Amino acid sequence: MTTFSKAVRNYEKLCREADVPEETVMAYLVELSQRDRYDLYANYSEEMPEELEKEFSAGMKRILNQEPMAHVLGYSWFYGYKMIVNEDVLIPRTETEELCVEILKRMDRWFSGYETIETADIGTGSGAIAITIAKEEPKVHMTATDISTDALRTAKENARVNEADITFLAGDMLEPLIEKNVKLDVLICNPPYIPQDEVMEKSVVDFEPHVALFGGSDGLYFYRRIFAGCDKVLKEKAFMAFEMGWNQREAMSRLVEETLPQAQYEILKDMNGKDRMLFVYFGLDMQEGE
Ligand code: SAM
Ligand code: GLN
Repeated sequence: MTTFSKAVRNYEKLCREADVPEETVMAYLVELSQRDRYDLYANYSEEMPEELEKEFSAGMKRILNQEPMAHVLGYSWFYGYKMIVNEDVLIPRTETEELCVEILKRMDRWFSGYETIETADIGTGSGAIAITIAKEEPKVHMTATDISTDALRTAKENARVNEADITFLAGDMLEPLIEKNVKLDVLICNPPYIPQDEVMEKSVVDFEPHVALFGGSDGLYFYRRIFAGCDKVLKEKAFMAFEMGWNQREAMSRLVEETLPQAQYEILKDMNGKDRMLFVYFGLDMQEGE
């Protein structure tokens, strides 16, 4: 038997020793106990119920072994939506929520008069972006693709649970869209963008699918492929929204300017002040109406 306070302090100490962020302990306990943080603090000296204590210590054992908390829980939260996650999909990141905010703003700015906004999310993974955009902007008709049929299985389940109406297609980058002759107002992609030889945290590299992480020697492999083929799937007035690596601004600018000279583009920073999002505009004037 132990109290909440003793258990939390004990695991925070073990986290520090194992190089796991100690905030994980409270975050995990909040999810597991289905109680909010303030309620837990208010009853900090209470005995922990036995069942909860068992589950908590079993989960913490995995977390101390660097396994992501989202895998231990089986889900994570994205834009307020609950997303099932597992070893087949990337755990959706907070930076990607910011990408969704910026996409929704731009849909509103340019396409609010449209009846439907034809949109695709390439490499949908858990379905996090596709589901969020489809739920938040009812005019959107969303197609979501992935090369991994395992990932698509989880994405479909997430769409069902969150009641999002999405067309799923399996295939390599733009191919399934070209095959179906889809013409888009908005193309979204958070491709794998980690350079092949980058050294990464154990919690990422040992537990998350490598097909979701690595983007060739400079991390830009998938952007090159999309830039080369995007004219086949975009309408005349359209924009593309990408997530990108914080250290790719220069190489990315060069690539866009060389391969898409007819387009305007901008790179936006995330909340941490890091270059994180690329928007590319065709037939839409970035400055207009500002
Ligand atoms: N969109 C999700 C998100 O933002 O959380 C997942 C992004 S993850 C960085 C990249 C996704 O691209 C993975 O789900 C991976 O399976 C998929 N992918 C990798 N290579 C692909 C390819 N050639 N064609 C389509 N999807 C691919
Ligand atoms: N942001 C992820 C990470 O740092 C990588 C996502 C991606 O490659 N698109 O682990």
